Amino acid sequence: MVNENNASAVNLHVIRTSKSTKARGYVALMPAANSENHGATRPAKARAMRLANALRKQYPQAHCALVHRNAFELLIATILSAQATDVSVNKVTPELFRDFPDAASMAKATPAELEPYLRSIGLFRNKAKSISGTARMLVEEFGGKVPRTMEELIRLPGVARKTANVVLGNAFGLNEGFVVDTHIQRLAVRFGLAKKGDDVGTIERKLMALFPRERWCELSHELIWHGRAVCKARGGGCADDAICREFGVGCGRRE
Ligand code: SF4
Repeated sequence: MVNENNASAVNLHVIRTSKSTKARGYVALMPAANSENHGATRPAKARAMRLANALRKQYPQAHCALVHRNAFELLIATILSAQATDVSVNKVTPELFRDFPDAASMAKATPAELEPYLRSIGLFRNKAKSISGTARMLVEEFGGKVPRTMEELIRLPGVARKTANVVLGNAFGLNEGFVVDTHIQRLAVRFGLAKKGDDVGTIERKLMALFPRERWCELSHELIWHGRAVCKARGGGCADDAICREFGVGCGRRE
């Protein structure tokens, strides 16, 4: 799942406005939920709640599309999902996790040894380096376990805020932030939750301010499912959808 570009579900849009340490620190220290309202007035929150309930009703089966059995597998799969579809990641991870089932075994592998498993997904050389480096850091600094804090997770190679949010929410049940992938970025604007031109950090803050914290992870899946099933990038024949009719106020494709 989720978007460093466009394809996937938890294919997250990792927040990388800059590679500088300062910027990464800034991202890590985003204000806690609701500590700033980011325009989230009471009516806006009430509207957001109606949207959340409509999405829950329409997508009761929504879940993380990346196949995983534990936090380590989800972390690695999410790193691999950047600029790749969840489907393509799910095709390579069974063999990868069969041969490297945990951080200790993956840490012993060089990127070159991991590359053959990843050739069918985009940016496979960089991703081999990232998961090799992540596995090594997990072993050397975290006892082989996946850490449970944003600050620790975003230190891992290939991990930024979106990936960390996916892991925290889905593996540990911790709603630290709101996953913003390409679908959520698009739908936030179409549903009038954010403005056109908002960057992913701004969108995340706005969503965090609008929706109750306990719904963030669930909502990320429901929005992604809606983006895949109905409110697709190019639109088309979708404006009679009930959620679109009530909430698609920011979409130029509606009549
Ligand atoms: S018209 Fe289609 S693309 Fe636009 S908000 Fe509605 S469902 Fe989404």
